[in-house]
Amino acid sequence: RLYNEVQELKGNIRVYCRIRPYLSGENKKQCTIYHIGENGELILANPTKQGKDGQRVFNFNKVFGPTATQEEVFLDTQPLIPSVLDGYNVCIFAYGQTGSGKTYTMTGPDSSSETDWGVNYQALNDLFQISWTRRDTFIYEVGVQMVEVYNEQIVFLSFHTLGIMTTSQPNGLAVPDASMHTVQSTLDVLELMKIGQTNRAVSATSLNERSSRSHSILTVHVQGMDLKTGAALRGSLHLVDLAGSERVERSEVIGERLKEAQHINKSLSALGDVIFALSQKNTHVPYRNSKLTQVLQSSLGGHAKTLMFVHINPDVGSYSETLSTLKFAERVS
Ligand code: ADP
Ligand code: MG
Repeated sequence: RLYNEVQELKGNIRVYCRIRPYLSGENKKQCTIYHIGENGELILANPTKQGKDGQRVFNFNKVFGPTATQEEVFLDTQPLIPSVLDGYNVCIFAYGQTGSGKTYTMTGPDSSSETDWGVNYQALNDLFQISWTRRDTFIYEVGVQMVEVYNEQIVFLSFHTLGIMTTSQPNGLAVPDASMHTVQSTLDVLELMKIGQTNRAVSATSLNERSSRSHSILTVHVQGMDLKTGAALRGSLHLVDLAGSERVERSEVIGERLKEAQHINKSLSALGDVIFALSQKNTHVPYRNSKLTQVLQSSLGGHAKTLMFVHINPDVGSYSETLSTLKFAERVS
């Protein structure tokens, strides 16, 4: 794979666009996607303007059309996983409006069979497998942590350790007192995540509603030791299912909902600003503007690799949200 060489050339930020298929009930007659090119080109068509005038061309590292499988999507994500075990901090984000397929990409559909597993589980699987193949030269300790950022507050859902683990402070986040748990496999992590999700749902009226208004971060901390030299390294993998990016009209929401919307807006634009600053190699990177970017500060920039999945749907009713999602993506790519 030439992936790592491409990374060196283009910097450590990649942007992939994924278009989900139509859901039942959506009007298939008028599609906002005019063209998906081979080399990451995407042409969006404005439903109210005919011809060239209504078209807008975007370019990303890769575009996955509505028929792309979970496996295909992961194939282009996979090269990042060994980097985690090499001591890089890797962040994978899912961005897009509610219902565009973020959770599908990161976790998979509800009735998840192994072939439909999202990036999260596939990445964990690979991580375990690669660490196993390196067992003669490296010893790895792996810890998993789940964090939710809601209304600019950080909620630690759980912190768990996998395999042989010390109680030392992992990379990045300050970890408060939290339960420690030893698990052996990706399936164990899956179980733990379900428990985490349940904990998270306790105070929420609807899990789905709440999840679309908070950023959920699954972090995998890795500590490695070179058995020959005794040299230590730390890497991390942050898997981030972001809050829905849809803009809400001030007139439509009041009270709690307005506050939520403002917090989401603020943190997503702060994230965009940070990635933009990194892509421009600016000396000042504005990490302090939101909790989300503060939490991820040590893993964005520096010895880091970032992959942003931006999600859109083909539905004509979503045209303006789709346009603004693609503009966000264009700016950080
Ligand atoms: P989000 O997390 O962005 O709110 P979801 O991942 O929950 O969106 O997706 C919304 C709906 O669309 C779900 O029913 C999901 O199963 C379906 N869906 C999303 N992406 C795909 C896809 N690539 N293939 C098939 N169904 C999808
Ligand atoms: Mg979701």
